[in-house]
Amino acid sequence: TRLIEFNRVAKVYRAVDGRPVRAVDSVSAAIGAGEFVSILGPSGCGKSTLMMMLAGLLSPSEGEIRFKGEPVFGPQEGCGIVFQDAVLFPWRTVLSNVMLPGEVRGLPKAEQERRARAMIRLVGLAGFETKFPHELSGGMQQRVSIARALSLEPSLLVMDEPFGALDAMTREQMNLELQRISLDLGATVVFVTHSIAEAAFLSDRVFVMSGRPSTVREIVDIDIPRP
Ligand code: ADP
Ligand code: ADP
Repeated sequence: TRLIEFNRVAKVYRAVDGRPVRAVDSVSAAIGAGEFVSILGPSGCGKSTLMMMLAGLLSPSEGEIRFKGEPVFGPQEGCGIVFQDAVLFPWRTVLSNVMLPGEVRGLPKAEQERRARAMIRLVGLAGFETKFPHELSGGMQQRVSIARALSLEPSLLVMDEPFGALDAMTREQMNLELQRISLDLGATVVFVTHSIAEAAFLSDRVFVMSGRPSTVREIVDIDIPRP
């Protein structure tokens, strides 16, 4: 079943001098429930723009994105997002950071905490609940942000170069963790990366965005059989 559909989606920004910049042009694609899809492409090809639109944080200039058959307007409940930097609240503990989405949604405190603890365990940080972000390594902080993104049990996890700021070894370890987590949860993941190896390791499918800014971009679908 199709969880996500992009129908000729485009985004046009205004440059500082007022010129229009077509950051994304005519993207059409469909992503099924439970799929792990990577998006590869050079810097500036529009990957972040596409992810922000998918997460409902930016609206398309043309075309339409559908999530569960409904057009995306604004941030969605069923979508968790992880950026390159962990953006945790420094004055909140690990537990309190991961409880935040439940708090914003207004879940009962006990329920917020139950979910947060389960996700902290899932990302391998049980025992670190009362630590503050600055007490953790970069990889651990990013795991906290993954736990937070998962805390409302989203059907879609959007990850925009989540491991881009990490060293190679930590990154490799995080890839293994993410593979385990995605298989455990069966969530749909859309994962932006510069690394072909990472994309090939993690994904069911790889979309390649090509072209310099302002040129037409096509999405090529490469099927990679999973071991
Ligand atoms: P990527 O994530 O692939 O590096 P982006 O989506 O960040 O690409 O950017 C795509 C293009 O859109 C780039 O040329 C970038 O300079 C331009 N762009 C991104 N955000 C804005 C903005 N707010 N205003 C104008 N141009 C932007
Ligand atoms: P990451 O890969 O998440 O950055 P590392 O595995 O490189 O974390 O570990 C950085 C340090 O943090 C290590 O010295 C390790 O002792 C500690 N550490 C990381 N994860 C855990 C964990 N789940 N339990 C105990 N210690 C951990």
